[in-house]
Amino acid sequence: MKRIPDLCAQRAMLTPDAPAFADPIGGRVWSFGEIERRVGRGAALLRGLKITEGDRIAVLCHNSVAFFELLFACARAKVILVPLNWRQTPAELTPVLDDSGAKLLIHDGPTADLASKLAAATRLPIRSLTEWDAQCSEPGDSLAPTEWETDAPWYLLYTSGTTGKPKAVIQTAGMALANMINVQTATGIGPETKSLNFLPLFHTAGINLHTLPVFFVGGLSQVLPKFDVDLVLSLIQQGGITVFFGVPAIYQAISLHPAFENTDFSGVKHWGCGGAPISAALIQTFLARGVNICNGMGMTETGPTVFFMDRAHAPTKIGSVGKPQLLSEVRLVGADGGDVADGEDGELWFRGPGITPGYFNNPMATEGAFAPGGWLRSGDIARRDHDGYVTIVDRIKDMYISGGENVYPAEVEHVLQAHPAVLEAAVVGVADEKWGEVGHAAVILRPGHSAEPGLLQQYARGLLATYKVPKHITIVTDFPRTAAGKVQKHHLRAALTAPHPSESPE
Ligand code: ATP
Repeated sequence: MKRIPDLCAQRAMLTPDAPAFADPIGGRVWSFGEIERRVGRGAALLRGLKITEGDRIAVLCHNSVAFFELLFACARAKVILVPLNWRQTPAELTPVLDDSGAKLLIHDGPTADLASKLAAATRLPIRSLTEWDAQCSEPGDSLAPTEWETDAPWYLLYTSGTTGKPKAVIQTAGMALANMINVQTATGIGPETKSLNFLPLFHTAGINLHTLPVFFVGGLSQVLPKFDVDLVLSLIQQGGITVFFGVPAIYQAISLHPAFENTDFSGVKHWGCGGAPISAALIQTFLARGVNICNGMGMTETGPTVFFMDRAHAPTKIGSVGKPQLLSEVRLVGADGGDVADGEDGELWFRGPGITPGYFNNPMATEGAFAPGGWLRSGDIARRDHDGYVTIVDRIKDMYISGGENVYPAEVEHVLQAHPAVLEAAVVGVADEKWGEVGHAAVILRPGHSAEPGLLQQYARGLLATYKVPKHITIVTDFPRTAAGKVQKHHLRAALTAPHPSESPE
């Protein structure tokens, strides 16, 4: 275990009066010194709630400066924070709370109702983030900075995984530092940087692209509760943003806005995109407006940055995610376990200080994710060209991405199969203009039962976050299968997306 200074205190010591955070809606600004004082007080408040070293606390909130204060207060109190996805239902979040062993659930105003339902289901005590935040301004005990351990869990990010069961990706301070170096060297962020935070904070991008690297280098993070295309475009127009990170669905929404053609984009020096494949057409649409989108790729497990496209090659290497960054080791591995040659397809394997040590309290999942030598298997198939630029060409893990949110078909299939009329369900991701991909479920009904697709969607809506509910449902009599009976998802996808899918897509 390596130790480093408390990075919140260290940053505040360097530039106490510089602005660290701003709320562009309310107009409030927090200096690094003020954040440091509030974090010390907040950590003492956690101790006062009998939350001690190694305990987990869950948080359900829209984006706010208070979230980051809580994150830093947890690091100081050596408590592990578990951000929860507020788009999910109590049925999805209860297993997450159980798995994490959280001792407390903190919520904001908009998530109070969901928190009460979860408290009723789990008997967890709940507390308001707004109240905790207000108390951070009051005089009282403060916890002094202590060293951070680089390899200890700092916070956990949950993914459903290909089995449909929640698993927690451990995030450490060491990963955050490696990510900061990757972001800084790729984009040139510094004390003059002004970023805009709007991607949700239960994902690595909201924490590790928009904010932590910018905070550590002394820049300003402006926090919006969530993405609002009108507001984002007007902030860009005002010149108050110098670095912008989005997912393809965000860029798509901006390109369709009436103000797109007239907005002055010149204040932003770096445009980053990642999390899902971005189409060449969308990149071209932005290039025509003078916006040079740099694609990039990473995973929650990689902290997240691995690949960044450089600004000089972005317009000519469209489709590529760029090169591995300074602290990212990458292999492209063929079926025989050896490295493939340039131009050939291989699975991406990752290693380096930005990679997670594993899944929290889940040694089996951790063992399954890593190959000998400490290489993380990504489940993505990619190709490297002769200049060293990498393009993602396929995915071997059973997952699709809808509007930047990962959907694991196994989880959706479990829910559909629990419906009394459903015998079997198979879900695939299919192309969608707005969301990139959406779910298409093929469903075999039990003999003698009937169920309209609309009814099954309504049923799924009660149990799954909206983005996971299949947009299309087709009733079929069988699936294409291997000799062993396993559903052949690629054949199923082809059948479902054929111009006139027959009722039975085998
Ligand atoms: P976040 O949870 O903040 O959205 P993320 O998308 O970087 O983070 P994950 O949710 O773990 O991380 O998803 C990682 C997967 O997303 C990758 O394994 C890959 O399949 C896909 N992916 C990420 N970026 C790209 C990209 N630029 N092009 C194609 N696929 C991508």
